[in-house]
Parts: sequence; structure tokens; C-alpha cells
Amino acid sequence: MSTIFSQIVAGDIPARVVYEDETTLAFLDANPLAPGHTLVIPKEEYERLNDVPEDVAADLYATLHRLVPAVEDAVDADASTVAFNNGEAAGQEVPHVHGHIVPRFAGDGGGPIHAIAGEAPDLSDDELDEIAADIDGRI
Ligand code: 5GP
Repeated sequence: MSTIFSQIVAGDIPARVVYEDETTLAFLDANPLAPGHTLVIPKEEYERLNDVPEDVAADLYATLHRLVPAVEDAVDADASTVAFNNGEAAGQEVPHVHGHIVPRFAGDGGGPIHAIAGEAPDLSDDELDEIAADIDGRI
């Protein structure tokens, strides 16, 4: 069963497509958080960012890079929040990688990306050192 976004790629479900190339597609979100809210996806179906092959990830970033100024300019936004909900626990509902470009306006009442997590942990220097080493050791 393909995702709803694969059905958009296939043309089986309509969408307001704003950009397309060989590996990526961008279209307006059906339930926009702001005018111009755009989703950028790899055409192939990958559930999470870490599933995306490096060459496709580079294409995906290139499309985001092109789209962000175009979207901001089109709706006269002051800024944008660009983010991925990467996994169900982070709020991902469609299991097909997608970057959100949400235009932002001065005084729009929204928050920064720091507002998305729960209570901030109080980590000691030792704990921070250990976490940094654990991440570094996995790359
Ligand atoms: P997520 O929570 O997975 O990061 O976000 C999924 C996004 O996809 C939501 O913002 C939702 O409004 C959007 N969406 C879900 N179904 C459709 C659809 O059929 N067409 C379009 N254009 N957007 C969709």
C-alpha cells in the first residue's frame, strides 16, 4: 500500500504541485499552517530521513534550498520554519519523508522550533560529554 504522497507522485491524487524534478516533488500542504505552507518530498517512498540514500538526500536539500526563497517571496513572508517530523513520536503522520516549509510572519503568534519538545532536561557537563561521544562514535 503506497503512501498518500506516492499517490500524489503517481498523479492518482490531485495536489497543487509547485516544483518537480527527477527525484523530488514539492506541493502545497492540504491543511496549511500558513499561506504557502509547502511540502518537499523524495519521489521514492522512504519513511524516515535515515532511510533516504545520500544522493537523494542531496537532491532533497537542493530542492528545499530552491523552494524556501520562492515560497517566502510568493507570500511576502518575513521568514520561514523549515522542519521534518522524523518518526511517529515526533509527530510524523505520513510515513513518507517530507520537509515542511512554513512561511512565518512577524507577530504571527507561532513559536520557534525550541517550542516543539517537552520539558527541557537539566544535563550535567559529564552527561553532555557522554552524549556527544556516543553520537560521534556512531558516525
Ligand atoms: P506530518 O505530520 O506527517 O509531518 O505532516 C503531514 C502533512 O501532510 C500535514 O501537514 C497534512 O496537512 C499534509 N497532508 C496529508 N494528506 C495530504 C494530502 O492528501 N495532500 C496534501 N497536499 N497534503 C496532505
